[in-house]
Amino acid sequence: MPPKSMALHKGLGLKAHTAKYFHRVRIQFGQQVSMLRRLSSKKAIYSFTRKNRPAYHVMDGETVVVETGDCFSGLARSESDLFEDIAMGDVNPATGPIAVEGMRAGEILCVEVKRIKCGKAGVVMCSPDLGILASDVRKSRTRIVRIKGNKAVFSKDLEIDLNPHIGVVGVSPLKGEFPTFHPGDYGGNLDTVEVRERSKLYLPTFVDGAMVAIGDVHAAMGDGEVCGTGVEVPAEVTVRLSEDSEMSLTRPMIETPTEWFSYAAAKTLDQAAKLATHDLVRFISDRRGCDFEEAYMLASVAADLRISQVVDPLMAAKMSISKRYL
Ligand code: CA
Ligand code: CA
Repeated sequence: MPPKSMALHKGLGLKAHTAKYFHRVRIQFGQQVSMLRRLSSKKAIYSFTRKNRPAYHVMDGETVVVETGDCFSGLARSESDLFEDIAMGDVNPATGPIAVEGMRAGEILCVEVKRIKCGKAGVVMCSPDLGILASDVRKSRTRIVRIKGNKAVFSKDLEIDLNPHIGVVGVSPLKGEFPTFHPGDYGGNLDTVEVRERSKLYLPTFVDGAMVAIGDVHAAMGDGEVCGTGVEVPAEVTVRLSEDSEMSLTRPMIETPTEWFSYAAAKTLDQAAKLATHDLVRFISDRRGCDFEEAYMLASVAADLRISQVVDPLMAAKMSISKRYL
């Protein structure tokens, strides 16, 4: 009889080359204890392209623990390591790609975020080469921020609340090659605080298996991410990956327990705002079975148009509406 882990591996129908990454992990969700596979951050990509080959395979509907490196690939070890010392090629390792067995190009992927466990310390940086006020920055600075319970120790006299979320979640795009610090219709560098525990991120897919990759967890970030970083941490994220047959979308959407969010990235914030508004109005119209004008007026009085981030190669906006109104 094979060892138990091998038997489980066979039972899940996993490809042989993923077997060595198979570790049994006990994760407790309330009263329920599950045995989950752990996907190592040693297999990571730095660009999204349809040429990427799968590093891991999961079953449709499988929940896995994804280990993620911090956005500087662990190269910012002290406060003397500055942004200029880090090559852009080392920014935003995204663990994967993970092929979801049975998914076909054109289907919708649902990434359900069950748990985000942040590392013990994070990095915040500012630099004259980074952020919306880059030209005002006289000197680069790096801050190592200790994580203490549900707080980040920002300075001697200031602790800030954590709002852990995943910065990068993307799938292989239809065409082109995009560094993992780019956002787009395929996801990527979303930098959207609502990609957090108990949320579901829906992504359009363009290749068989979706080929999702995950990284760039922030222990904390404000809307806009104005200086260019959140509290950048290594992390372990527990996600369920599945095909969703109900959603229809061309750009990412996020569902929280109480709200729906559209999301759009574009060259300017104006363009991103217009696309995010368009997507949410269309979504409202579909859900309520009403015409465009009715949905547009409802969005105007009850939905919130906000900024995701203003520091990536494309700007990103989001628009949310309470589930109560749908
Ligand atoms: Ca990011
Ligand atoms: Ca980041």
